[in-house]
Amino acid sequence: MSESFVSHEKNGVGFFSIPSFDKTNLVVNAFSGRKGGISKGKYSSLNLSFLTEDKQENIMKNRIRFATAIGISPESMVNAQQVHEDIIYKVTIKDKGRGAFERDTLIPATDALMTNEKGITLMLFFADCVPVVFLDPIKKAIAVTHAGWKGTVAKIAAKTVKALELNYGVKPENILVGIGPSIGPCHYQVDHTVIAKVAEAFPKSEKLLFDKKENGYAYLNLWEANRIQLLEVGISDKNITVAGLCTYCFQDNFFSHRGNMMGRQAAVIMLK
Ligand SMILES: [Zn+2]
Repeated sequence: MSESFVSHEKNGVGFFSIPSFDKTNLVVNAFSGRKGGISKGKYSSLNLSFLTEDKQENIMKNRIRFATAIGISPESMVNAQQVHEDIIYKVTIKDKGRGAFERDTLIPATDALMTNEKGITLMLFFADCVPVVFLDPIKKAIAVTHAGWKGTVAKIAAKTVKALELNYGVKPENILVGIGPSIGPCHYQVDHTVIAKVAEAFPKSEKLLFDKKENGYAYLNLWEANRIQLLEVGISDKNITVAGLCTYCFQDNFFSHRGNMMGRQAAVIMLK
């Protein structure tokens, strides 16, 4: 594993980035949090997703604030309607702006976006689920993946690597990966149904993935489950950066469903 994420603040908007991605100077990569927006209550303050019951005009203002802070244009955003499955969508210039200003144009039923075209901001939303972001600096291809426990068990992160290989001819050993802020093994208690599904998907790694297994409950390490599946498809360990930031532990900084902070933060990546 590589060094952790770096924290930034611009015009009052807080966000994180991955040092190995920044060093390539090929992309804008950013993970937003709660800081710097205008939404109130459980959406306070930088809620970025139209698929919430927050005021739509506040969401739009938040998105403009975030876009300005990270140096992208709001029109470049491409969003998806995330459904905890394993569909990966190849984004091209004709998709630019889908979901940027309203929910109706979102790419439907998709949990990963990839492209090799410049100037398109791939953007997905999170509030405990794991954002996984990809960059191949050789072929210049990028992706972002949404992996809650269902996506993690469906191995959507590993499937994203396969899709990058198939569509853009990338080699897994060249790909840089960031595993972003999400619910950590310290707080992600799951029941026997989830335990059984994870054990089935990762038969050799059960001991690494669960802690304090008792009375049908256990604490699940989604970061490690994603790291393991990436190693299995040829990503090199030194190219993986894990933020190690638990959204439940750090609710002052992040939305957390389990913490009843119902806004969404975003993970974004764009080829410059
Ligand atoms: Zn925690």
